[in-house]
Amino acid sequence: MSEFHEVVVIGGGPAGLTAGIYLMRAGIDAILVEQGVVGGTPMKYEHVENYPGFPEGIASRELMERMTSQAKRFGLVIKDFCQVSGITVQAGRFTTQAGEGSIESLGVIAAAGTQSVPINIPGEAEFMGRGVSNCATCDGMFFRNLDVAVIGGGDAAIQEGLTLANLARKVYVVHRRETLRAQKIIQDRAFKHPKMEFLWNKAPIEIVGKEQVESIKLRDTKTGQASQIKVDGVFVYVGSRPNTSFLGDLVDKDEAGFIRTDEDLLTRTKGLYVAGDARRKSLRQISTAVGDGALAAVSLERYILETK
Ligand SMILES: Cc1cc2nc3c(=O)[nH]c(=O)nc-3n(C[C@H](O)[C@H](O)[C@H](O)COP(=O)(O)OP(=O)(O)OC[C@H]3O[C@@H](n4cnc5c(N)ncnc54)[C@H](O)[C@@H]3O)c2cc1C
Repeated sequence: MSEFHEVVVIGGGPAGLTAGIYLMRAGIDAILVEQGVVGGTPMKYEHVENYPGFPEGIASRELMERMTSQAKRFGLVIKDFCQVSGITVQAGRFTTQAGEGSIESLGVIAAAGTQSVPINIPGEAEFMGRGVSNCATCDGMFFRNLDVAVIGGGDAAIQEGLTLANLARKVYVVHRRETLRAQKIIQDRAFKHPKMEFLWNKAPIEIVGKEQVESIKLRDTKTGQASQIKVDGVFVYVGSRPNTSFLGDLVDKDEAGFIRTDEDLLTRTKGLYVAGDARRKSLRQISTAVGDGALAAVSLERYILETK
Protein backbone atom coordinates (compact mmCIF):
# COMPACT_ATOMS: atom_id res chain seq x y z
CA MET A 1 0.00 0.00 0.00
CA SER A 2 1.23 3.43 -0.93
CA GLU A 3 1.33 6.29 1.60
CA PHE A 4 0.93 9.97 0.70
CA HIS A 5 2.98 13.02 1.75
CA GLU A 6 3.04 16.37 -0.02
CA VAL A 7 6.83 16.11 -0.45
CA VAL A 8 9.38 13.31 -0.39
CA VAL A 9 12.97 14.32 0.43
CA ILE A 10 15.54 11.72 -0.61
CA GLY A 11 18.75 11.73 1.43
CA GLY A 12 19.40 12.63 5.06
CA GLY A 13 22.56 14.72 4.70
CA PRO A 14 22.87 18.49 5.23
CA ALA A 15 20.86 19.30 2.07
CA GLY A 16 17.99 16.90 2.80
CA LEU A 17 17.70 17.79 6.49
CA THR A 18 17.71 21.52 5.74
CA ALA A 19 15.02 21.02 3.09
CA GLY A 20 13.02 19.10 5.71
CA ILE A 21 13.34 21.93 8.26
CA TYR A 22 12.19 24.56 5.73
CA LEU A 23 9.30 22.44 4.43
CA MET A 24 7.95 21.63 7.89
CA ARG A 25 8.20 25.25 9.01
CA ALA A 26 6.22 26.21 5.89
CA GLY A 27 3.45 23.84 6.93
CA ILE A 28 4.18 21.30 4.16
CA ASP A 29 3.79 17.65 5.05
CA ALA A 30 7.17 16.07 4.18
CA ILE A 31 8.87 12.72 4.68
CA LEU A 32 12.62 12.19 4.44
CA VAL A 33 13.90 8.82 3.21
CA GLU A 34 17.50 7.84 3.96
CA GLN A 35 19.17 4.61 2.86
CA GLY A 36 21.48 4.44 5.88
CA VAL A 37 22.10 6.39 9.06
CA VAL A 38 20.68 9.93 8.98
CA GLY A 39 23.39 12.61 8.77
CA GLY A 40 24.95 11.94 5.38
CA THR A 41 28.60 12.13 4.46
CA PRO A 42 29.67 14.18 7.53
CA MET A 43 28.93 11.08 9.63
CA LYS A 44 32.01 9.55 7.96
CA TYR A 45 34.59 12.09 9.03
CA GLU A 46 35.70 13.78 12.23
CA HIS A 47 35.56 17.50 12.41
CA VAL A 48 34.21 20.56 10.57
CA GLU A 49 36.05 23.85 10.89
CA ASN A 50 34.52 25.92 8.12
CA TYR A 51 30.81 25.74 8.92
CA PRO A 52 29.84 29.20 10.23
CA GLY A 53 28.64 29.59 13.80
CA PHE A 54 31.16 27.31 15.48
CA PRO A 55 34.33 29.34 16.14
CA GLU A 56 36.20 26.31 17.50
CA GLY A 57 34.79 23.96 14.83
CA ILE A 58 32.43 21.13 15.68
CA ALA A 59 32.50 17.32 15.54
CA SER A 60 30.78 16.60 12.23
CA ARG A 61 28.55 13.93 13.82
CA GLU A 62 27.39 16.40 16.42
CA LEU A 63 26.58 18.97 13.74
CA MET A 64 24.46 16.40 11.91
CA GLU A 65 22.76 15.22 15.12
CA ARG A 66 21.83 18.84 15.78
CA MET A 67 20.38 19.25 12.27
CA THR A 68 18.45 16.00 12.68
CA SER A 69 16.95 16.96 16.03
CA GLN A 70 16.02 20.39 14.65
CA ALA A 71 14.20 18.73 11.73
CA LYS A 72 12.44 16.31 14.10
CA ARG A 73 11.39 19.18 16.37
CA PHE A 74 9.40 20.61 13.47
CA GLY A 75 7.78 17.23 12.91
CA LEU A 76 9.71 15.88 9.92
CA VAL A 77 8.99 12.17 9.47
CA ILE A 78 12.30 10.36 8.89
CA LYS A 79 12.45 6.88 7.42
CA ASP A 80 16.02 5.61 7.75
CA PHE A 81 17.61 2.43 6.38
CA CYS A 82 15.22 2.69 3.45
CA GLN A 83 16.66 3.00 -0.04
CA VAL A 84 14.92 4.79 -2.89
CA SER A 85 15.21 2.72 -6.06
CA GLY A 86 13.09 4.65 -8.54
CA ILE A 87 10.70 7.52 -9.16
CA THR A 88 7.89 7.85 -11.69
CA VAL A 89 5.62 10.78 -12.37
CA GLN A 90 2.14 10.81 -13.84
CA ALA A 91 -0.18 13.80 -14.13
CA GLY A 92 1.94 15.80 -11.68
CA ARG A 93 1.96 13.07 -9.01
CA PHE A 94 5.20 11.35 -8.08
CA THR A 95 5.55 7.74 -6.96
CA THR A 96 8.80 7.06 -5.10
CA GLN A 97 9.83 3.43 -4.66
CA ALA A 98 11.24 3.33 -1.12
CA GLY A 99 12.34 0.01 0.36
CA GLU A 100 9.53 -2.50 -0.10
CA GLY A 101 6.85 0.16 -0.45
CA SER A 102 6.07 3.35 -2.33
CA ILE A 103 5.23 6.94 -1.43
CA GLU A 104 2.96 9.22 -3.48
CA SER A 105 3.68 12.97 -3.43
CA LEU A 106 3.17 16.29 -5.21
CA GLY A 107 6.90 17.05 -5.27
CA VAL A 108 10.32 15.49 -4.65
CA ILE A 109 13.64 16.92 -3.48
CA ALA A 110 16.52 14.62 -4.37
CA ALA A 111 19.46 15.27 -2.03
CA ALA A 112 21.29 11.97 -2.32
CA GLY A 113 24.85 13.30 -2.40
CA THR A 114 27.78 11.45 -3.90
CA GLN A 115 29.82 8.28 -3.38
CA SER A 116 33.57 7.72 -3.73
CA VAL A 117 34.97 6.71 -7.07
CA PRO A 118 37.17 3.59 -7.05
CA ILE A 119 40.68 3.68 -8.56
CA ASN A 120 39.94 0.40 -10.34
CA ILE A 121 43.28 -1.30 -9.85
CA PRO A 122 43.91 -4.97 -9.04
CA GLY A 123 43.46 -5.67 -5.32
CA GLU A 124 41.18 -2.69 -4.61
CA ALA A 125 37.86 -4.56 -4.64
CA GLU A 126 39.46 -7.78 -3.32
CA PHE A 127 40.86 -6.08 -0.18
CA MET A 128 37.95 -3.70 0.48
CA GLY A 129 37.34 -4.05 4.23
CA ARG A 130 40.62 -5.97 4.60
CA GLY A 131 42.93 -2.98 4.43
CA VAL A 132 41.27 -0.91 1.69
CA SER A 133 38.82 1.77 2.84
CA ASN A 134 37.18 5.09 1.92
CA CYS A 135 36.53 6.18 5.50
CA ALA A 136 39.29 7.09 7.96
CA THR A 137 36.82 7.83 10.74
CA CYS A 138 35.15 4.42 10.37
CA ASP A 139 38.30 2.31 9.91
CA GLY A 140 41.24 4.43 11.10
CA MET A 141 41.40 2.76 14.52
CA PHE A 142 42.31 -0.57 12.87
CA PHE A 143 45.56 1.05 11.71
CA ARG A 144 46.83 2.32 15.04
CA ASN A 145 50.66 2.37 14.88
CA LEU A 146 50.62 0.87 11.38
CA ASP A 147 51.59 2.34 7.99
CA VAL A 148 48.92 3.51 5.54
CA ALA A 149 48.73 5.11 2.11
CA VAL A 150 46.18 7.76 1.21
CA ILE A 151 45.46 8.07 -2.50
CA GLY A 152 44.49 11.52 -3.80
CA GLY A 153 45.38 15.19 -3.51
CA GLY A 154 42.09 16.99 -2.82
CA ASP A 155 40.47 18.20 0.40
CA ALA A 156 39.05 14.80 1.32
CA ALA A 157 42.37 12.97 0.84
CA ILE A 158 44.46 15.42 2.85
CA GLN A 159 41.88 15.96 5.60
CA GLU A 160 41.47 12.20 6.01
CA GLY A 161 45.25 11.79 5.89
CA LEU A 162 45.51 14.15 8.87
CA THR A 163 42.85 12.15 10.73
CA LEU A 164 44.83 8.96 10.06
CA ALA A 165 48.09 10.60 11.14
CA ASN A 166 46.67 10.82 14.68
CA LEU A 167 46.50 7.03 14.79
CA ALA A 168 48.87 5.50 12.28
CA ARG A 169 52.66 5.31 12.50
CA LYS A 170 53.14 6.70 8.99
CA VAL A 171 50.82 8.15 6.35
CA TYR A 172 52.05 8.17 2.76
CA VAL A 173 50.10 10.52 0.50
CA VAL A 174 50.23 9.11 -3.02
CA HIS A 175 49.42 11.77 -5.60
CA ARG A 176 49.73 11.61 -9.36
CA ARG A 177 50.77 15.28 -9.62
CA GLU A 178 53.34 17.41 -7.81
CA THR A 179 50.92 19.87 -6.25
CA LEU A 180 47.81 19.29 -4.16
CA ARG A 181 44.28 20.53 -4.89
CA ALA A 182 43.37 20.71 -1.17
CA GLN A 183 42.72 24.07 0.54
CA LYS A 184 45.93 25.85 1.54
CA ILE A 185 45.22 25.71 5.29
CA ILE A 186 44.87 21.90 5.15
CA GLN A 187 47.96 21.54 2.95
CA ASP A 188 50.06 23.58 5.39
CA ARG A 189 49.00 21.38 8.28
CA ALA A 190 49.79 18.22 6.33
CA PHE A 191 53.23 19.44 5.21
CA LYS A 192 54.12 20.21 8.83
CA HIS A 193 52.90 16.88 10.19
CA PRO A 194 55.87 14.66 11.10
CA LYS A 195 54.02 11.44 10.24
CA MET A 196 52.98 12.47 6.72
CA GLU A 197 55.17 11.77 3.72
CA PHE A 198 54.29 12.89 0.20
CA LEU A 199 54.97 10.63 -2.78
CA TRP A 200 54.62 13.02 -5.73
CA ASN A 201 53.94 11.99 -9.33
CA LYS A 202 52.99 8.47 -8.29
CA ALA A 203 49.98 6.52 -9.50
CA PRO A 204 48.85 3.34 -7.72
CA ILE A 205 48.85 0.29 -9.98
CA GLU A 206 48.19 -2.67 -7.67
CA ILE A 207 47.31 -3.41 -4.04
CA VAL A 208 49.10 -6.55 -2.90
CA GLY A 209 48.53 -8.92 0.01
CA LYS A 210 47.47 -12.38 1.15
CA GLU A 211 44.68 -12.15 3.77
CA GLN A 212 45.18 -8.39 4.31
CA VAL A 213 46.85 -5.54 2.43
CA GLU A 214 50.64 -5.82 2.65
CA SER A 215 51.92 -3.34 0.08
CA ILE A 216 51.03 -1.08 -2.81
CA LYS A 217 52.72 -0.92 -6.21
CA LEU A 218 53.20 2.53 -7.72
CA ARG A 219 54.30 3.94 -11.06
CA ASP A 220 56.01 7.29 -11.48
CA THR A 221 53.73 9.36 -13.74
CA LYS A 222 56.75 11.17 -15.26
CA THR A 223 59.43 8.49 -15.61
CA GLY A 224 57.25 5.36 -15.69
CA GLN A 225 59.50 3.78 -13.03
CA ALA A 226 57.77 1.21 -10.80
CA SER A 227 58.15 1.06 -6.99
CA GLN A 228 56.49 -0.74 -4.09
CA ILE A 229 55.89 0.42 -0.53
CA LYS A 230 54.94 -1.68 2.45
CA VAL A 231 51.63 -0.53 3.92
CA ASP A 232 48.90 -2.11 6.05
CA GLY A 233 46.09 0.04 4.71
CA VAL A 234 45.09 1.99 1.60
CA PHE A 235 42.55 4.83 1.84
CA VAL A 236 41.15 5.95 -1.52
CA TYR A 237 39.94 9.53 -2.10
CA VAL A 238 40.24 10.21 -5.81
CA GLY A 239 36.86 11.79 -6.38
CA SER A 240 33.17 11.17 -6.18
CA ARG A 241 30.19 10.51 -8.42
CA PRO A 242 26.60 11.57 -7.79
CA ASN A 243 23.91 9.20 -6.54
CA THR A 244 21.38 9.68 -9.31
CA SER A 245 20.48 6.23 -10.66
CA PHE A 246 16.97 6.31 -9.12
CA LEU A 247 16.13 9.47 -11.12
CA GLY A 248 16.28 7.75 -14.52
CA ASP A 249 15.54 10.13 -17.37
CA LEU A 250 13.57 12.63 -15.26
CA VAL A 251 16.68 14.85 -15.09
CA ASP A 252 19.43 16.19 -17.34
CA LYS A 253 23.01 15.46 -16.34
CA ASP A 254 26.40 16.91 -17.23
CA GLU A 255 29.27 14.86 -18.66
CA ALA A 256 30.30 13.69 -15.15
CA GLY A 257 26.75 12.66 -14.23
CA PHE A 258 25.92 15.63 -11.96
CA ILE A 259 22.34 16.88 -12.29
CA ARG A 260 21.63 20.12 -14.07
CA THR A 261 19.13 22.45 -12.39
CA ASP A 262 17.94 25.99 -12.95
CA GLU A 263 18.65 28.73 -10.40
CA ASP A 264 15.66 27.61 -8.27
CA LEU A 265 17.11 24.05 -8.29
CA LEU A 266 14.33 22.73 -10.52
CA THR A 267 15.22 19.86 -12.87
CA ARG A 268 13.61 19.33 -16.23
CA THR A 269 10.65 17.63 -14.48
CA LYS A 270 8.15 20.00 -12.83
CA GLY A 271 8.00 19.37 -9.07
CA LEU A 272 11.38 17.58 -8.99
CA TYR A 273 14.19 19.58 -7.37
CA VAL A 274 17.79 18.61 -6.62
CA ALA A 275 19.85 19.93 -3.72
CA GLY A 276 23.39 19.38 -2.47
CA ASP A 277 26.43 17.57 -3.83
CA ALA A 278 24.54 15.60 -6.49
CA ARG A 279 23.89 18.82 -8.37
CA ARG A 280 26.20 20.37 -10.95
CA LYS A 281 27.91 23.21 -9.09
CA SER A 282 31.35 24.57 -8.36
CA LEU A 283 31.62 24.06 -4.58
CA ARG A 284 30.54 20.96 -2.65
CA GLN A 285 30.49 21.76 1.05
CA ILE A 286 28.09 21.55 3.99
CA SER A 287 27.39 25.27 3.76
CA THR A 288 26.43 25.06 0.07
CA ALA A 289 24.38 21.89 0.66
CA VAL A 290 22.47 23.65 3.42
CA GLY A 291 21.84 26.64 1.12
CA ASP A 292 20.60 24.30 -1.60
CA GLY A 293 18.26 22.51 0.82
CA ALA A 294 16.67 25.80 1.86
CA LEU A 295 16.28 27.02 -1.72
CA ALA A 296 14.86 23.75 -3.04
CA ALA A 297 12.30 23.66 -0.21
CA VAL A 298 11.13 27.24 -0.79
CA SER A 299 10.98 26.72 -4.58
CA LEU A 300 8.95 23.55 -4.12
CA GLU A 301 6.66 25.22 -1.60
CA ARG A 302 5.86 27.92 -4.21
CA TYR A 303 5.25 25.24 -6.86
CA ILE A 304 2.84 23.37 -4.60
CA LEU A 305 0.92 26.56 -3.73
CA GLU A 306 0.64 27.47 -7.43
CA THR A 307 -0.62 24.04 -8.47
CA LYS A 308 -3.05 23.49 -5.58
C1 LIG B 1 36.34 13.20 3.80
C2 LIG B 1 35.44 14.39 3.60
C3 LIG B 1 35.65 15.52 4.37
C4 LIG B 1 34.81 16.65 4.20
N1 LIG B 1 35.02 17.76 4.98
C5 LIG B 1 34.19 18.83 4.87
C6 LIG B 1 34.38 19.98 5.70
O1 LIG B 1 35.28 20.03 6.53
N2 LIG B 1 33.52 21.02 5.54
C7 LIG B 1 32.51 21.01 4.62
O2 LIG B 1 31.74 21.98 4.55
N3 LIG B 1 32.31 19.92 3.82
C8 LIG B 1 33.13 18.84 3.91
N4 LIG B 1 32.95 17.75 3.09
C9 LIG B 1 31.86 17.80 2.07
C10 LIG B 1 30.46 17.64 2.71
O3 LIG B 1 30.43 16.49 3.53
C11 LIG B 1 29.41 17.53 1.60
O4 LIG B 1 29.51 18.65 0.75
C12 LIG B 1 27.99 17.45 2.17
O5 LIG B 1 27.86 16.36 3.05
C13 LIG B 1 26.96 17.33 1.05
O6 LIG B 1 25.70 17.20 1.62
P1 LIG B 1 24.51 16.47 0.83
O7 LIG B 1 23.33 16.53 1.74
O8 LIG B 1 24.41 17.00 -0.54
O9 LIG B 1 24.99 14.96 0.63
P2 LIG B 1 25.44 13.82 1.71
O10 LIG B 1 25.95 14.43 2.95
O11 LIG B 1 26.32 12.93 0.94
O12 LIG B 1 24.07 13.11 2.02
C14 LIG B 1 23.38 12.36 1.04
C15 LIG B 1 22.57 11.27 1.74
O13 LIG B 1 21.73 10.63 0.76
C16 LIG B 1 21.66 9.25 1.05
N5 LIG B 1 21.27 8.51 -0.15
C17 LIG B 1 22.01 8.31 -1.27
N6 LIG B 1 21.32 7.56 -2.16
C18 LIG B 1 20.11 7.28 -1.57
C19 LIG B 1 18.99 6.53 -1.99
N7 LIG B 1 18.93 5.93 -3.19
N8 LIG B 1 17.92 6.43 -1.14
C20 LIG B 1 17.95 7.05 0.08
N9 LIG B 1 19.01 7.77 0.53
C21 LIG B 1 20.07 7.89 -0.30
C22 LIG B 1 23.07 8.93 1.52
O14 LIG B 1 23.09 7.74 2.31
C23 LIG B 1 23.43 10.17 2.34
O15 LIG B 1 23.11 10.02 3.71
C24 LIG B 1 33.76 16.62 3.23
C25 LIG B 1 33.56 15.47 2.46
C26 LIG B 1 34.40 14.37 2.63
C27 LIG B 1 34.17 13.13 1.79
